[in-house]
Amino acid sequence: MSVCHRRPIHSASRHYGGGLRSSSRPRQAVGPCFVFRGDDNNVKRKSPLDEGFDFAKEIKAAGGGWFGRKKQDGEEEPRRGSDVRANATVGFVDGILGNASVDVSFERKVKCAKCKGEGRLPRTVIKCPACDGTGIAAEEKAVTVTIPDGGVRHNQMLRLKGQGDSGVPSPANDGDLLVTLCVLYQDEPKETTRDAEGNLFTSVSLPSTVLASGTDALPVTLVDGTKGTLKVPSETKDGAALRVRGKGAISDKSVSSSTARGDHVFVLRACD
Ligand SMILES: [Zn+2]
Repeated sequence: MSVCHRRPIHSASRHYGGGLRSSSRPRQAVGPCFVFRGDDNNVKRKSPLDEGFDFAKEIKAAGGGWFGRKKQDGEEEPRRGSDVRANATVGFVDGILGNASVDVSFERKVKCAKCKGEGRLPRTVIKCPACDGTGIAAEEKAVTVTIPDGGVRHNQMLRLKGQGDSGVPSPANDGDLLVTLCVLYQDEPKETTRDAEGNLFTSVSLPSTVLASGTDALPVTLVDGTKGTLKVPSETKDGAALRVRGKGAISDKSVSSSTARGDHVFVLRACD
């Protein structure tokens, strides 16, 4: 289970158009993220230990000992550790704006501390009871992943160098941790929804008389907390949309290098 943390936010100065005034971004309560798609332990990668993986066979095939083959002088040949994959869930506003962090727990393979990766107790032929002779141990680890300022795409992957399986020598050749960020939309602010292009939709209820007459100053709040006003033309129909460009989320479909954002769309509804 991942836990969202919100860092102190700099006083925001987000302007839109001529009618908006900026305000500081509201502080979010620190609380647990809901696990996306029911993933129980928030770690996508299954441990080979849970799958009956035959470590002894692998070790034998590799020439015995820890992960790498040993050279004639007894030194282990360098070998890079495998990358480890994990999932993390990010809240709605954190995913859109970034400047937050999330804790991720995962499991990685390391050299067994008891037998130092030999698989046997020191100076004996007795199989190491700690690792069952494999020389490999599973280590539970937790890291804090920074959500970059400006937000992330849903399913965006972040690479954390050197946090994966232990390599030879460690830590210089340790693998990486690949964290896939699932941006939660179940906890989106009330009455705001979004689509796959990153557009946000907020319904605004107005008396039909106001829609008919129009107004120069309809108060609205963007998802980052910026408050401002929008102009509603006269003779506006129920269901009309006012679009604030580029103030939505990053599109799920954008390529990894792109940070193109959708719009924040205010849908006007007659409330009488
Ligand atoms: Zn051992």
